[in-house]
Amino acid sequence: MRANVLFVEDEEALRMTVGDRLRNEGYAVECAADGDAGFEKATQIPFDLIILDVMLPHKSGFDVCRDIRQAGLITPILMLTARGQTSDKVSGLKIGADDYVTKPFNMLELMARVEALLRRAPSRPVAQTGTFDFGSIHVDLVGTEATHDGEVLNLSAREFQLLRYFIEHRGATLSREELLKQVWGYSADMYTRTVDVHVASLRQKLEEDPKQPKFILTVQGLGYKFKP
Ligand code: CA
Repeated sequence: MRANVLFVEDEEALRMTVGDRLRNEGYAVECAADGDAGFEKATQIPFDLIILDVMLPHKSGFDVCRDIRQAGLITPILMLTARGQTSDKVSGLKIGADDYVTKPFNMLELMARVEALLRRAPSRPVAQTGTFDFGSIHVDLVGTEATHDGEVLNLSAREFQLLRYFIEHRGATLSREELLKQVWGYSADMYTRTVDVHVASLRQKLEEDPKQPKFILTVQGLGYKFKP
């Protein structure tokens, strides 16, 4: 299936070169020239990936990213940040971006990141329906609520983000470092024990027998795997 990519960038020359390159790589490409148009397209058309420049007229890439996440969309977002703005990278990841590339970038590097993000992207059904079921658990990703036989499970915001990440990457072995970075936005040298604590807590709430989990499995020496 041909992946659908949205590219939000105000510099016309860059829109054209990157757009052409993406099309040559076989992607279907939509472009938007400012933040408002980018947000509008992102919420109206189902995309597999959004490439989002930080410096945009009207509405910055950060604001667009935050609004996209607040609208409940889980489409992977690759941010284009200015060189040397380390804080940009951190803020971007904190508000829900999945990766970033620093400008000026090398086209091959950009394509490699695009490909990597698409490879680990959630399958579209989840993104489109915004819900996911496993066992007797129903997860509403848009309404950020999980229920068990119709009863609302009291998940903390972080537990929900962790569960969402598990759902989006179901079947994959996820290291504690990756979970920390993606769910908490921390660098890998922070306490990975934090992940264990939250996984244990999620199991308490989601698993019939938390000591013998059926869904959130431990992969010895590697991390965790969600198997719905
Ligand atoms: Ca720009």
